[in-house]
Amino acid sequence: MAGPTIDDVLSLCRRRGFFFPSAEIYGSIAGFYDHGPLGCELRRNIRDAWWRDMVQGRPDVVGMDCSIVTHPQVWHASGHATNFSDPMVDCRESKMRYRADQLFFCPVRSQGRTIAMVSVLEGPAMEEEARDKARAICGRMGLVADGEPLRLRPILDATAEELEKIPSPATGTPGALTAPRDFHLMLETRVGAVADAASLTYLRPETAQGIFVNFGHVVDTARQKIPFGIAQIGRSFRNEITPRNSLFRSREFEQMELEYFIAPDADWRAIHGQWVRDRLAWYSSIGVGQEWLSLEEHAPEKLAHYALACTDIAFRYPFGIQEIEGIAVRGNFDLAQHQNFSGKSLEYFDGERRYLPLAIEPSAGLDRIFLALLCSAYAEDELGGGRRTVLRLHPRLAPIKAGVFPLVKNQPKLVMLAESIAKRLSRHWNVALDSSGAIGRRYRRMDEVGTPFAITVDFQSIDDGTVTLRERDSAEQVRIAVEELVPCLRESINGPD
Ligand code: ATP
Repeated sequence: MAGPTIDDVLSLCRRRGFFFPSAEIYGSIAGFYDHGPLGCELRRNIRDAWWRDMVQGRPDVVGMDCSIVTHPQVWHASGHATNFSDPMVDCRESKMRYRADQLFFCPVRSQGRTIAMVSVLEGPAMEEEARDKARAICGRMGLVADGEPLRLRPILDATAEELEKIPSPATGTPGALTAPRDFHLMLETRVGAVADAASLTYLRPETAQGIFVNFGHVVDTARQKIPFGIAQIGRSFRNEITPRNSLFRSREFEQMELEYFIAPDADWRAIHGQWVRDRLAWYSSIGVGQEWLSLEEHAPEKLAHYALACTDIAFRYPFGIQEIEGIAVRGNFDLAQHQNFSGKSLEYFDGERRYLPLAIEPSAGLDRIFLALLCSAYAEDELGGGRRTVLRLHPRLAPIKAGVFPLVKNQPKLVMLAESIAKRLSRHWNVALDSSGAIGRRYRRMDEVGTPFAITVDFQSIDDGTVTLRERDSAEQVRIAVEELVPCLRESINGPD
């Protein structure tokens, strides 16, 4: 199944103002984005859908909203202050910086001898790119490459001897790359009037720690009994070495995280499995079909030291299959660390015994969902003899729920009726009143941004109080009484009561 290219999706986002590089008039900073009118509606709808299904719809989950800047001890206890880093390599010539786990190399062999090395950045076409580079090198030397398949290896595995021969992807010069070293990913900030060591802290790199440090408060105040969950949506910050693929890897992004606390002797495998199934089903409920998704279970040796298990939900982005959400069993590491560092008990008392619960953590990235929704909803089709671009977004997620069109703009009665309909609908949803241009063009404008319904007010509307309601995907139109609009749209957007 072919999807759109990333350029198709990004050009639509640009054209219709979903998002822009942050502060673009000043040249922007890589990894930061500003969301325009449609982008911020879509983000709000993703947030609302998650909150409704994960918090409001579950009696065993409550919400929190913690500060972004927090006590530095939080990050010492969690291990982020010392361990939250990615390996990087620098190109000494171009000053470009690469994430070492995304940089691959292989020897180029001719007549059984290694004649050079090639390097490529991780990506769906990296093998092809390496082959092309190898062929070009052989061509320049008047040699023919051996037929054996190229074996790409991560630069992290390169020996010092190999590093001297590996070319920089930026300049092609062998030996221009430094050996991999750790790069700390937390963004620092200073709090207060005195800029000394004590004022140094960090912008949170995940929302989860706020939940752990407040575990005791929630137990004391929220009348929840284990098993129960605490959810949070909020911005997180990581000084990513190579922000790329647009919103997919940015430096400021939004997470939707839930810590589900269970007893130490509970069957964590079964509960984890249930969360994985529930989260997969959630993506279907917001219109991301299962054909776009896959599960990736982390091998035991790849797990974070505190985790008992982790399964990623991956999405088939145009630039490769990549994680959209991680569902980890974090054990009791975080609560134990905060208890040790703060000296305050975070144990839970169930009436008989005291213990630190285990935490199961479904952690999703709002921005990655945003991009996934656009990629899976994007389509181009033939309609009425013309070609259209359409975003087949689930009505729940659509930034604009309905376009309201007076058939002609020079008939005050039609315009007034359309305005009153738009006003009535806008008490429930974001709607757009549009009276300019041919009606077909107005439909196309709405199709392109995923608006599921178009309501046209015509001369008959004035006589009998009915309008035409057009559905985006089928382009079918029905006549419907104005009073029926709210219940009809509500059912399509929210599902049956
Ligand atoms: P990756 O391996 O892609 O860097 P991660 O495993 O470090 O991701 P987590 O720490 O598990 O990510 O964060 C949970 C979720 O937060 C991810 O599944 C992703 O959706 C989102 N996320 C993490 N880093 C970024 C980022 N730089 N930009 C956008 N979203 C992110």
